[in-house]
Amino acid sequence: MALPENGQTRDAIFETLDTFRADDINTRSGRLFARVYPATERVENIALDAFRKFQGLNGLDPLSFPSLLRFEVDIINICLEHLNADMAAAAGSFTSGGTESILCAVKAARDFARATRPEVTRPEMILPATAHAAFHKACAYFDLVAVTVSVDPETFQADAAAMAAAITDQTVLIVGSAPAYPHGTIDPIEALAATALKHNIPMHVDACVGGWLLPLYEALGQSVPLFDFQVPGVTSISMDLHKYALCPKGASVVLYADKAMRRYQFFAATEWAGYSIINPTVQSTKSGGPLAGAWATLQAFGRDGYMDVARRMLDATDRLRSGLRAMKSLSIMGKPEFCMAAVSSDDVSVFHILDAMTARGWLIEVQLAFDNSPANLHLALNPGNLDNVEAMLEDLAGAVEDARALGTTSALADQVKAMFARIDPKDFNEEMFQRLLKFAGMTGVGLPEKMADINQVLNALPRPITKALLLEFANTLWSAEALPENAQS
Ligand SMILES: *Cc1c(COP(=O)(O)O)cnc(C)c1O
Repeated sequence: MALPENGQTRDAIFETLDTFRADDINTRSGRLFARVYPATERVENIALDAFRKFQGLNGLDPLSFPSLLRFEVDIINICLEHLNADMAAAAGSFTSGGTESILCAVKAARDFARATRPEVTRPEMILPATAHAAFHKACAYFDLVAVTVSVDPETFQADAAAMAAAITDQTVLIVGSAPAYPHGTIDPIEALAATALKHNIPMHVDACVGGWLLPLYEALGQSVPLFDFQVPGVTSISMDLHKYALCPKGASVVLYADKAMRRYQFFAATEWAGYSIINPTVQSTKSGGPLAGAWATLQAFGRDGYMDVARRMLDATDRLRSGLRAMKSLSIMGKPEFCMAAVSSDDVSVFHILDAMTARGWLIEVQLAFDNSPANLHLALNPGNLDNVEAMLEDLAGAVEDARALGTTSALADQVKAMFARIDPKDFNEEMFQRLLKFAGMTGVGLPEKMADINQVLNALPRPITKALLLEFANTLWSAEALPENAQS
């Protein structure tokens, strides 16, 4: 669309916005097992009012807006305390999300190595194969080498011995997750941290998804392995507040056992003609909205409110697991210790199950095969779907039977795989992508209702080709032609 010649009225704007919204998945349906982490209506209203009150303030300049500095100090202290840090020594930063928290932790580790270890010229980071993609993004952005180590094929936990064996004189960071997103399994943080400590290498625990709830689970009497600052050798932790702390999106923290390490995360610029820049994190101009929204959410729930959430999540996790265990064709991968599970199948295509679930109105995630992890479906509980666990399981059982009838192979995937067998991923281009779309019977990037063929293609291709294909897809998606009819103008 072009910029309207004249300003539009509020009514006209919202009429249009409602038509846009009609194409979105309904986040209040209780049928989303991915993507959303809703608070209660009471808390959400408080959080959004606070968000609005502070959104126009600029965190770039905390001296002019000490309210924002206060929010951040309060939030960081609450989070450090939550994860058992030594309050006299520890420090942290508020960021826009898990990815930014991880980028910050990796940058700090790299710059710490640059400052203290002259032998490091080609910094490496040791990652379990289940570590979040954000670590690979950090490698791409900051020019580190990702050394990816296979996880245990039974438990899907990081293999501490194999990771120790991967250490070189270039290693600047060792990573473990609590839990790792793909299977909901918690890595052996104590063993990894002991190795890190022995070699005097920083160790980051990615507790983006689990950091908020796990200590509450423990307080409720669950056995939770040690994963936080109580573990000697853990130097930094990322924890998302916009996940299970149920804050408005754009809220995460990166925490350091020692404030001296945080210093390597910061960036200052004096080598230009403008104002002096001091940026603790990636953003420069930074809305006060997410900070105020997160602060208000923590206040509005309080410890007892979050304990209540944790109790309900635990109860629903039991119901989810026993329901999944009862399904003969599905198996829960590894031993998830969190409110999520990945399920694979030997005799039914998970891609067809996904389509059958989509047709029944559920949003669940598919994860392609990687290393020793077969393709699977990922189910995450959130406070908005707990009452629908049984209904979802019932539909899942039906979806498995629908999928069984469709078999496990894809002629299209086989053909595409043959087509691309000899292509160098570097040579994959837009023209090839368009040819592929046509071959798959697609006229554009508007996705068909049934995704199984496409997912089988993505799953079957060598990963570098899959990546090239996804990049072409994205470069086409962010264009006017890809918009749904409704929203086109
Ligand atoms: C969600 C998640 C991230 C990334 O967080 P974003 O907020 O999506 O950037 C990183 N690590 C884990 C374990 C996660 O679950």
